[in-house]
This record gives sequence, structure tokens and C-alpha cells, in this order.
Amino acid sequence: MTKPDGIRELLARRTGEEMALNDRYLNPQMGRILRTLGFDRTWVGGDHSHLIDADGERYLDLIDGYGVFALGRNHPDVVAAVNDVMAAGTANLPQLGVTLLSGVLAEQLLARAPGSVGAMVPANTGTEAVEAAIKIARAATGRPRILYADHGFHGLTLGSVSINGNEEFRDGFGPFLPGCDSVAFGDADAVARELAREDVAAVILEPIQGKGVNLPPDGYLACVQRLCREHGTLFVCDEVQTGLGRTGRFLALEHWDLAPDMICVSKALSGGLVPIGAVLVSRAAFDKVFDGMERAVRHGSTFGGNDLGAAAAIATLEVIERDGLVARAERLGNLLLDLTQPLVSRHDVVRDVRGAGLMWAIELGPPPGAASRSLFRAVDHLQPGLFAQLITVPLFHEHRILCQVAGHRLNVIKALPSLLVDEDDIRHFADALADVVATAEHMPGAMARFGVRMARGTARANRARRRVAAG
Ligand code: PMP
Repeated sequence: MTKPDGIRELLARRTGEEMALNDRYLNPQMGRILRTLGFDRTWVGGDHSHLIDADGERYLDLIDGYGVFALGRNHPDVVAAVNDVMAAGTANLPQLGVTLLSGVLAEQLLARAPGSVGAMVPANTGTEAVEAAIKIARAATGRPRILYADHGFHGLTLGSVSINGNEEFRDGFGPFLPGCDSVAFGDADAVARELAREDVAAVILEPIQGKGVNLPPDGYLACVQRLCREHGTLFVCDEVQTGLGRTGRFLALEHWDLAPDMICVSKALSGGLVPIGAVLVSRAAFDKVFDGMERAVRHGSTFGGNDLGAAAAIATLEVIERDGLVARAERLGNLLLDLTQPLVSRHDVVRDVRGAGLMWAIELGPPPGAASRSLFRAVDHLQPGLFAQLITVPLFHEHRILCQVAGHRLNVIKALPSLLVDEDDIRHFADALADVVATAEHMPGAMARFGVRMARGTARANRARRRVAAG
């Protein structure tokens, strides 16, 4: 029997084939986007806050794997924890048995959460944590309805997409779970009207919305929590993106002293190395759902609480605490806001710069002058949200910074730097942004360059398609 190829050997031998493999077996439409924007790099490594391409060039990564790499990529302490578990040969997933590591993780997460939650239900992803919250809310209250916010994002499995406030994710996937209704984010009166019907199991909100980086109005979240208490509805905070120090607090809910009945976490919890999720649940709600031996396994997931994820998460919590990363996120986030907020008064095209900790966004909009306004509209007409790409594309090509548009058809650009990002990288980003915004404001030139790049991207896409067809 021959030994299977080692992964290192495989990486060395086949690196460079990823776009062709993607086009043939994965998502060719994604391939088209990458080529059109010229983002079709061969990534060969990740280190600290940077991605490294096949030429050895380092790119500052402000997408952060959608927020999972809060400790940067491949943090040595998390890698060591994962290696230790493998080397220890633990009795992982006994199923009819319990393990130490998931118990310790629950103990440590709950110690950092508000006293309103007292149990952990393990999961493997953000959407799985949200699905668990929906089920627990219905079973604990005996009520059918779930309220969610416009523009809210909670994942893309069918339960979570039923409470997704963005049409582009819903389109074509209905019918959805019955009893799921949206309210405008920030409108506490709308929540009060719905809760008065006394049939709402849970209100689920992101404390700060990931799509658009929308901050809640003053008093809103505390008011929703109070209304929930008054009407026997469970209040659920989805901290999948905002949790683990991202906003300058361990959980974003600490900004408003909230004490929800459930808290969903995922993403950064395992330092980005192992898929993980969890919902922290009040003892009262938990005990209503798991209320007898015959009901001990009525919700769960085969890999939930596995040793690799738990070990990576325990190490991540240790690093966050040891290295003071929550305070660091707050300090560097304030620096980023200080450096970038002046763009609002300096450029007509910049509507707003906002954020909390290292969750940051810039919103663009049509400038006041009639000529520039109609140019902006013309660009936006080509494809809504395209103007934002006039910023992200040169940031990538001219400044080696990877960041994303914060939602479909939105002219909002978002940055989620790792909590370990260097101060110099924050300054580099602010300088680069000032440069590309100034250029994009003079749209004709920027448009021309963008058009050339799009044309080049299309040509490259055609060449690659021919290669795939030939291969
Ligand atoms: N909730 C929030 C707030 C999220 O930002 C996300 C992911 N972007 C999810 C849930 C879903 O997480 P996952 O992609 O791991 O299912």
C-alpha cells in the first residue's frame, strides 16, 4: 500500500490550480467576480493580519475570513492547542459520555457572559447556534412567532434565512418558517405592537448589524429587552460577529448592560481554526426544553462540543484575556475612527464613518453637485453598490488591502481587522482610504481605470475558461 500524499506535498505540487478547480467543481460565478475585480490571487499563506500571495506579497486582510480571525491567522497558541489535542489522542465525542474540554469551555464562556445565561448548547457554526436559539425559544415558550430586524443577518440555513432581513438572501428559497416577522431595526414601538399579541417566542437582534454596520439608536436594545420581559418573550442577542472582543467589549451587549435570555456566538471563538458555535441559554429556558431524561437529546449536533473546537476556543479565550485584546480593540478602533471620520467633512461623497471597536464602516452616497450627482447615479445604475467597488478595487491593487462591501447593493465598505492588527497597519489603511476616496471622487478617471480592469478581468476569465475546457 502506498502512503497517501502528505498535504505539504500536495500544496507544493498543485498550488496555482485553485481557480480552475473552483470553476470546474465549486462556484464558477465566484470565479467570475474574482477575475472581474482582479482579486483572483493565488493565496499561499496567512500570517498575523496578512494574506500572502504566490509572489510573496503581503496583503492587509480586513475581511478577516468574515470576522473569524480575531487573533490573526494561524495564531501559534491556538495552533499549539489543536496540535496538543491531536497528540493527546483524547476520547473525543463519546456521545454516550461527556468530555472535559467542552465542559471547561462552557465554564469559561459563561464566566464572561452576563448572569442571565447559565448553560451552553454547543454547535459548529453561527447559523447552527441561531437554529438552536429558534428551537429553544419555541419549545421553552410554547409560542410560534420569531421577530427579527430589517437588514438583520443570522445565517443561511432555512430557519436562519427565515429571519434574514435581506431580500437577496431570501429570494427563491421560500416558503419560509411560518411566524417569522420583521420590524425596522431601531423601532421599539414596532416591537411593542408585535409583542402585545403575546404570541412571540423570541426577538432576535444583532446588537450591531453586520450588514451595513448599523449601530442601534440610544436606548433601543434596553427597551426591546424590557418589552420582552413584560410579555414573556425571550430576548436573543446574535453575537456571532460582534462577540469575542470585536466591538471593544468581550460581548457587544456590555455596551448597553444587556442581560438576554440567549446569546449566540461563533466565528472568532476558535481563533478561526476550527468551525465552532454555541448558544448560551438562561437556566430557565434550558430546563424547559431539556425537562426529562427522555428529552436529553432532543436538540444537538454530532460534532457539537468536539475536542478540537473546544481546545481551540479555550486557547482563544486565554489569548484574548492574557494579551488584553478587548481593550486593544477599543483603543485601535477609536484610533481608526479618529483617522477616518474627517473624510466626512473633506469629501462630499462620504456620508458617514462609523463603528465600534474593530468593526468599522464608511458609507458613500451621491455628492450634492448636480454633475457629480448624476455621475454617481450613472455608476450606481450600472450596478447598485458599484461605487463602493471604486474604493475596494484600488485599495487592493494599489495598497494591498483586502476589504469588502458591507452588503448587497450597499455603498458601504466594511473593515473587520484582527484584534492583533498593528497600529501601523491601521494608519496605512486610513492613509490608503483617504487616497482612494479622493481619487474616486473624480469619477471619470477612476471609472476609466475600473473599466480597463473589468475588461482585463473578463479576458483573464475567458482564458481560464478555455484552460478548464482544455483540461
Ligand atoms: N449571525 C451573524 C450575526 C453573522 O454575522 C453570521 C455570519 N456572517 C451568522 C450568524 C452565520 O454564521 P455562519 O456563516 O457560521 O453560519
